[in-house]
Order: sequence, then C-alpha cells, then structure tokens
Amino acid sequence: MEKLEQLYEGKAKKVYNTEDPDLLIVSYKDDATAFNGQKKGQIADKGVVNNIMSNIIFQILEDSGVPTHLVRQLSDRETLVKRVRILPLEVIVRNVAAGSFSNRYGVEEGRPFAKPVLEFSYKNDELGDPLINDDHILALELATEEQLALVRQYALKVNEVMKEFFLRRDLRLIDYKIEFGVHQGELILADEISPDTCRLWDVKTNEKMDKDRFRRDLGNVEETYQAVLARVRA
Ligand code: UDP
Repeated sequence: MEKLEQLYEGKAKKVYNTEDPDLLIVSYKDDATAFNGQKKGQIADKGVVNNIMSNIIFQILEDSGVPTHLVRQLSDRETLVKRVRILPLEVIVRNVAAGSFSNRYGVEEGRPFAKPVLEFSYKNDELGDPLINDDHILALELATEEQLALVRQYALKVNEVMKEFFLRRDLRLIDYKIEFGVHQGELILADEISPDTCRLWDVKTNEKMDKDRFRRDLGNVEETYQAVLARVRA
C-alpha cells in the first residue's frame, strides 16, 4: 500500500491517504511536545519505538477482544490503519496517583488506587483539554450513551491486559491515555499506546520509563525509550 497525499500532521505523527478510502497510513515522528505544546524537542528514534510498541500492544488487545484500527505495520515508522472519526475524548485510566491527578488533588505520586480510576478530557487544544464528566460528554454530544458505555468497558479491558503484559516485563502501569474512533459504524481503539501515552515505572527501582523523562528533564530519554521497546519485544 502506497502513501498518497498527506491528510494531517499532528504533534507526533503524520497521516496519509491511500488508494483505499477506508485505510490510512500513519508515520511516526521523533518530535516530542509536553505541557500543551509549550515544551518542544526531539527524541531520536522515538517514532520507531512508538510505532513498533503500539503495534505489538494493539495486536494483543485485538486478540483479547478489543477492536483496534491496526491493519498491518509497513515499516519501522509506518503503519496501515483503518480510517476513523476520532471521538474528541482523551480517555485516561489510572492505577496509581501521578501527574495531573497528584497535582489537582494534592496526593503524592505513587499512591496506588483500590480500583482503576477512569477520567475523560475534552480533546481541544484551545481550551487546554479540560477534564469532563459523562454528563458533559452527552451534553456536548461528543459520544452517544452507547458509545460511552463501550468506551468504559474497553478502557478497563485494556487496563487488565496491559497491567499484566507490563508486569511480566518488570514494568508497573501507572496510568495511560487512549483514544477511540468510529470506523464503518464500529467503535474501535485508535491512536497509539507508547511511552508517550503511558506512565511506566520499573518494578524494582521505581525508575520512570516514559515521557516524564522528557517532561521533567530526567535524562537518558532516548535510552529509556529503547529499553522499554526491548522489554516489550521480550
Ligand atoms: N497523556 C497523554 N496525552 C495527554 C495527556 C496525558 O498521553 O495529552 C497521558 C500521560 O502520558 C499519562 C496519562 O495520560 O500517562 C495521565 O496524564 P496526566 O493527566 O497525569 O497528565 P500530565 O501529567 O501528563 O499532564
């Protein structure tokens, strides 16, 4: 499958049309942004890590009954995916307090939750992706009630599968963000799952092995992305 004209360029990926109107090619970049685009940089070969890692995880999720946009990987940076209409929602699942949860509620990072915490942000850069609840989502018509129920169900299934997957690789899944889209009337998992979109802490050392190394200038950013990919491939 060949790339045709570029459809869209986001912060971390470019998206191209193909000859099939139902399929797109995503191309992962090394560009990194944080704090709503205020901090910018590059992480060498991040695009390769995120592409390969995301595809491995999406395949496992497919096999576990969560439909995804994955069709097939084309190269180190490029993947053929189903075209979706993205729901303008960031679906965040948390197992342990960190990041904006810790800041908002004044809870120290690392405090585990008795059960997963599901939270939604309205994907809107101008508004700074504000936190919203189910009623807000329905009032703004960002998703139907049926879609919202399925989003919750899939988000928790993704959590079960990923928690176990990462734990076997000595990584604790602290939290993550996923996105869903609609393809031919079906709700499916889209976007990516990578160290850009998950918090992963080493089980033994508690070392942060994710984008917080970039956000917080912790060093060894490239090396950490490579180390995560090596564990995911193991
Ligand atoms: N996240 C993301 N994209 C966003 C916001 C958050 O991928 O635009 C991920 C983030 O990497 C973390 C989880 O979602 O794994 C929860 O992020 P949080 O709400 O704590 O926000 P942050 O601290 O990253 O601002």
